[in-house]
Amino acid sequence: DNAQPKKPSWIRVRAPGGKGYAETHKIMRDNGLVTVCEEAGCPNVGECWNQGHATMMIMGEICTRGCTFCNIATGKPQALDAFEPGRVAHAVEKLGLKHVVITSVDRDDIDDGGADHFAQTIRAVRHRSPATTIEILTPDFLKCAPAVLEQVVEAKPDVFNHNLETVPGLYPSVRPGARYFHSLRLLQRVKELDPSIFTKSGIMVGLGEDGAAVRQVMDDMRAADVDFLTIGQYLQPTPKHHVVDRFVTPEEFAAYEKAAFGKGFLMVSATPLTRSSYHAGDDFARLRAA
Ligand code: SF4
Ligand code: SF4
Repeated sequence: DNAQPKKPSWIRVRAPGGKGYAETHKIMRDNGLVTVCEEAGCPNVGECWNQGHATMMIMGEICTRGCTFCNIATGKPQALDAFEPGRVAHAVEKLGLKHVVITSVDRDDIDDGGADHFAQTIRAVRHRSPATTIEILTPDFLKCAPAVLEQVVEAKPDVFNHNLETVPGLYPSVRPGARYFHSLRLLQRVKELDPSIFTKSGIMVGLGEDGAAVRQVMDDMRAADVDFLTIGQYLQPTPKHHVVDRFVTPEEFAAYEKAAFGKGFLMVSATPLTRSSYHAGDDFARLRAA
């Protein structure tokens, strides 16, 4: 039964367009880069690209995992492209980004899960755009030796984000192949390895979780010293993906946000259209200025 609740009025998505959008699009294509904004069919692409914000996705367009909410193709990925870190750095410079978000597919096919490629990309961006703050959104490195995480941390991203995506009870149906406590521990290890790096995580709601489970995830994240939290409404990318259980109301989001600040997160974004990279740069700049 794929019956979906009707989209409410607060899920409004503006069609992409405008000068900034076209420019961002051109720079991405000229540099042969993939963006999660397009791959995930993100509802904010019009707004973000018009302002020159984009989330680049490295290590290819094919993922070794098959999360049921995600629109990225699953299969056998291509070999890593040694020139990609340089192209990302070039695009960041051309876009003049103050803050960049870099994410990737999961690469269970590579021994280090792509950790070295992530580190190289961070260093390449840092070299060409030393004033740009760098946020990475990483896979879970579940099948790798624990030491691979150190390589990424040593490259000193400003923000290390790894999304828990949902409450533990929904992992088998939403994030098969991942382990809730492994992901939580990864975030905690980043903080242990380098307390100067801000850690960040997020979940989607409307997948079938209840409010108590969401608040438990917040507690788990704080116990792992996670600094920033994002919560957004899950939207089904195609009829083949996980169904939307319900649309969480703006009032419920506001209550989550209030609860999260009460639990000690430094930065929280909880709205229906929040995505882990939505307004990430603005929020981070505000925090650093405070
Ligand atoms: Fe891209 Fe993130 Fe903006 Fe969506 S919210 S368009 S993924 S930068
Ligand atoms: Fe999508 Fe990431 Fe899951 Fe791969 S690991 S299917 S890119 S959410």
